[in-house]
Amino acid sequence: MSVEPRTPLAELTEDQLEALHNELDAYRNQPQLRHCLVPGCLREFDFTARMAGNPPSRPSWSGDGWRQLGNGSIHPRNGRHVCPDHAEIVIAHHARPVETASGRWTAACPCGWTALPQRWHGLLGPLWEEHLLTELGDLPSAPPITDPEHRVPFSDHTERSLAELYDRLEDAETYTQELREVARAAMLGYSQAVPALLGVKTSLEALHQRIALDSRDWTADKTDAWIWAILVGANCENTDTDHVHNDIDCAGDQALWDLGRQHDIPTDQIIRTGHLRWWVANAIKVAQQIEENNVDPRNED
Ligand SMILES: [Zn+2]
Ligand SMILES: [Zn+2]
Ligand SMILES: [Zn+2]
Repeated sequence: MSVEPRTPLAELTEDQLEALHNELDAYRNQPQLRHCLVPGCLREFDFTARMAGNPPSRPSWSGDGWRQLGNGSIHPRNGRHVCPDHAEIVIAHHARPVETASGRWTAACPCGWTALPQRWHGLLGPLWEEHLLTELGDLPSAPPITDPEHRVPFSDHTERSLAELYDRLEDAETYTQELREVARAAMLGYSQAVPALLGVKTSLEALHQRIALDSRDWTADKTDAWIWAILVGANCENTDTDHVHNDIDCAGDQALWDLGRQHDIPTDQIIRTGHLRWWVANAIKVAQQIEENNVDPRNED
């Protein structure tokens, strides 16, 4: 960078002083350009103008549609801004840094990609950029880690590269162990919840049947109507996509409101009753799905 020769005050003219000021002003208002974080992308925008709410110095430097990575993101080398062209793919692959059991760093992407664990978190940025370029189709996909062609040959190994392999194994073992524990806890919860749900379904269906077979008018009395609306349901519950409510073979979607008006029930209580009915119907529906999938743990002997 060249530095202007300085003119001593004794030799300085008014014009030269004016030129000096102009030059300084030009520097102060210079656009600060921010680049897209995707390597190879040439798009940039005028950050100064954007922050000041001014139009950009050039139309192509507009900040419209640009996105910025939040805190807790991986740091790409080109900054945290993404151009409108790449916003979608960067959001879809917005990986986060994760510390592994052995104190190293990996990146976890919503698509399932993870980076090989690194001892320094600063390496995650380039690895993530490589992943973005692979997803964009600019790079061929990576060979699997276990690919024999990409293994370090025995004679090339050092203490460090061997330690790397042991660390990797340790991470994998911890991860597998954690997965096993999660699966065990989930299975335990499932094996307790499913028989309970199927039992409740049997009881609810018995109540439904008992009410349906009763000859009395369940809508005449306020309490009867409430019980009926929860256990049998006032509204039509046909969820077939081609079903249209009608006056012939369905109750439509206003029957609960009509019932509420008939008994002067406040709006919030009608809504509450609608929720209570939904939970009953949903529990029966879910229990039916479990039975249909034939995954009832009571049947596993
Ligand atoms: Zn871009
Ligand atoms: Zn991804
Ligand atoms: Zn209907």
